[in-house]
Amino acid sequence: MEKELLIPRENIQRRVKELARQISSDYEGKEPILIGILNGVVFFFADLMREISIPTKMDFIRAASYGSEMKSSGSIRLTKDVEMPVRGQPVILVEDIVDTGLTLTHIVKNLESKGPESLRICALIDKLERRDIDVSIDYCGFKINEGFLVGYGLDYDEKYRHLPDICILK
Ligand code: 5GP
Repeated sequence: MEKELLIPRENIQRRVKELARQISSDYEGKEPILIGILNGVVFFFADLMREISIPTKMDFIRAASYGSEMKSSGSIRLTKDVEMPVRGQPVILVEDIVDTGLTLTHIVKNLESKGPESLRICALIDKLERRDIDVSIDYCGFKINEGFLVGYGLDYDEKYRHLPDICILK
């Protein structure tokens, strides 16, 4: 399959720094828990956390997602829940890409039931093409209209995750 460069690594790095600066200033004096949604988020998560200048904690959630298909199956299942107590804590959910919004909505409901002090969403990419459920993203890296993206953690059938740039798969 052909791939076309969409977001070069320099632009990703620059934007991650801006998001981190914003988060550091908004959460000054606090110690938020960053909760990453595995697996695609790993590179973004690691880069973001290292750029945030205030103390943060980390935890992860995993939801069953796209297998070898390019579209969401519609049913989301948590295969790994958070392990850290989140009650009364400021939480920032970190996601790689929001498409239909189904995954995120499901995870937000699950986290809200645990009673965090606050819950905000940080997503590297907001894909506007197929949004079914309205989700408000507090910290958004890039808005993309359409296309299936790979690289910087994003895969197609477990391939392409290692690419340092974000590309569109043709
Ligand atoms: P949603 O539930 O919002 O439709 O889908 C969210 C999940 O689908 C993301 O966490 C990601 O795993 C996957 N996804 C959505 N769009 C893309 C894409 O363009 N490329 C890749 N690799 N995964 C995507």
